[in-house]
Amino acid sequence: MQENSSESVQNMLQAVSLQTEQSYRSDFFFNREIPENLQALDRISWNYFWSWQPAGAALFRDLEPSLWEKCEQNPRLFLKNISQLRLWQKSLDENYVERLNDFARLFDEYVAQSPQNFGAVTTENPAAYFCAEYGVHNSLPNYSGGLGILAGDHLKSASDLNVPLVAVGLLYRYGYFRQKIAHDGWQEERYLDVFDSELALKPALDENGERITVSVNIRGREVFAQGWLAEIGRIKLYLLDTNLPQNADVDRLITGHLYGGDAETRIVQEEVLGIGGVRFLRRLNYQPSVFHLNEGHSAFLTLELVRENLANNNESNFEQAVSVVREQCVFTTHTPVAAGNDEFSPEKLRECFDKDFLAALKISEQEFFALGRTKKDDEKQWFGMTPLALRMCRSANGVSEKHGEVSRDLWLKMFADKTSADEVPITHITNGVHAPTWIAPVFQNLFEKHIGANWAETVRDEKAWRAGVEKISDAEIWQAHLQLKNLLVSFIRQKTLSKETGLHETINEHEDTRQLFSPNVLTIGFARRLAAYKRWNLILSDLERLLRLVDDAERPVQFVFAGKAHPQDRSGKQLLQNLMSINNDSNWQNRAVFVEDYDQEVARYLVQGVDVWLNVPRRPLEASGTSGQKVAMNGGLNFSILDGWWIEGYNGDNGFSIGDLKEEGDEKEIDREDAESLYAVLENEIVPAYYAVDENGLQSEWIRRMKNALVTLTPQFSSDRMVLDYVRKIYNK
Ligand SMILES: *Cc1c(COP(=O)(O)O)cnc(C)c1O
Repeated sequence: MQENSSESVQNMLQAVSLQTEQSYRSDFFFNREIPENLQALDRISWNYFWSWQPAGAALFRDLEPSLWEKCEQNPRLFLKNISQLRLWQKSLDENYVERLNDFARLFDEYVAQSPQNFGAVTTENPAAYFCAEYGVHNSLPNYSGGLGILAGDHLKSASDLNVPLVAVGLLYRYGYFRQKIAHDGWQEERYLDVFDSELALKPALDENGERITVSVNIRGREVFAQGWLAEIGRIKLYLLDTNLPQNADVDRLITGHLYGGDAETRIVQEEVLGIGGVRFLRRLNYQPSVFHLNEGHSAFLTLELVRENLANNNESNFEQAVSVVREQCVFTTHTPVAAGNDEFSPEKLRECFDKDFLAALKISEQEFFALGRTKKDDEKQWFGMTPLALRMCRSANGVSEKHGEVSRDLWLKMFADKTSADEVPITHITNGVHAPTWIAPVFQNLFEKHIGANWAETVRDEKAWRAGVEKISDAEIWQAHLQLKNLLVSFIRQKTLSKETGLHETINEHEDTRQLFSPNVLTIGFARRLAAYKRWNLILSDLERLLRLVDDAERPVQFVFAGKAHPQDRSGKQLLQNLMSINNDSNWQNRAVFVEDYDQEVARYLVQGVDVWLNVPRRPLEASGTSGQKVAMNGGLNFSILDGWWIEGYNGDNGFSIGDLKEEGDEKEIDREDAESLYAVLENEIVPAYYAVDENGLQSEWIRRMKNALVTLTPQFSSDRMVLDYVRKIYNK
């Protein structure tokens, strides 16, 4: 991490923040008169369970569809704003009231079930899950991308599987930025204050009904944090928040922005998350059997556990305490990319950490700094959160088989006694996604029809799942897919419609979108961050060849793009600008679109509606990737570099691969080869396969592949499988 480059951005963010700095809200309650027979709506809106139930989302949407979209699918905001007339109309709609009652019963039964014991993970001693971001649903805008979505899916599967687990994170008042593309194609960022909206968060209270606050000494001051409770089905997620009147202004902003700040902001955020998080759980009387550090951001929690241990055992020393703490902590690393592995300078750490805290650990400042180095005595090294986590945890894992291997290579340098990477104690659990969250309702209906109401549980059983999916006819699968594709086309037309587009139309805004995109054209989706290793430039590397595919009279291709560039990443923004403004004598402007502000809602339309999902990371930097897993569960075909999860998922017939497994060599040369492979596979395999129809006029060859993807990839990459793996192989020794 660079320490100085982002200061101006930080100043700007603070200026934005200070405008509303004074406002403080102690809760998200409001009074709303709701007709007696609709009152269950209020209860349902307080738990995110509704968000992964098609029937739950439909209950809100059908009350008043346009308002639901206007409120961005936020049920609390929606219930606050819906008109009294509309509520009374619906209260007289027997059909609606019956649906509501049915869903309320389902919800009550679901949350009433108590957790099961899984070995050492029990109701008394649950797993404690720590993460810096959570992507549960768009109405809780507390995530930036893959890591957050993964954490959200982890909690949902833990809930469905009835795993005793409690989760801790931070509530970012301004969340992550919202993206807008200006008329000239340049990305602009905007931050919204969640306290101006309504969130399904309740104040976290102690057994006497008092608001819990904890404090951590940071930068020479006690910083207070309060907690908010989000209910994710049966799982409790506590989010800490330093926006309290008793804190200094600058400390109130610690939980201001997600990944918006400089290194110092990161350190102090991570102190609140790790140290404050453990203190908070103790105030709630939690005695977790295992602490799961999901990414290194929360690794300071291990130091707080050491402090606790020493406070209780006066005789003990730091090493002895660590040997106890290590047995309780497990760590997941999520990326080999340097920007994802926080590193801090000793000077910054010294400013942010309390001397008494280190004294309580019975270590010197130098010994503290050494905990974050790959080699303890190399004083030139900065303090890395990944080395700290690797030292302090009994288990470490990457997020795919390949990423496990890459991580062992990367961190071999930490293990002086090991001579080869094979001996490095880092294993892997491959990421997965939450099937009910990501599978479109039309496919859920098909699964329900052919497999049963418990289809989501059948996903956990590969054989039964295969037997079930094979009962679905080709025509039904194609029909469902076409419906989703039509939905995507309408979504795109609506999203890119703009009254005023400036001098030129760009692929993110058009004055008339009625001819834009077509459900009959092979549709390729590409949505991801503008990070360099994601190699957006590969697609455009031979524009002429790309446009030939787009312009083909008989068998054209169309592209939908989405993704955010980091606010400070000028080259990413430039790349976006180039992409926006390609405008030559071709159909590009009608067959390529960019959907602004990639988030969970945009992702849902895209992963459910595309034919093909493209991914071209620089090997081996895609630790896992999960968006392609969502696509496969909706019958879409992946078209990807063999990296991350796709190495495990690809079987030759359930999608397409780009390039080979080669890693060594000149980057430019590899890029050239991968681009060649990308175009060639598109031209020679994907386009012909997609447009081939059988004697019944059905694209049966393509549908066979779709079915293969549904059958093979859904169980293997569901977050139920992932959470069970964690519980059995990691949480239990
Ligand atoms: C699933 C998802 C991601 C993660 O996708 P990758 O495959 O890692 O690119 C990122 N952002 C959103 C909004 C998602 O839904």
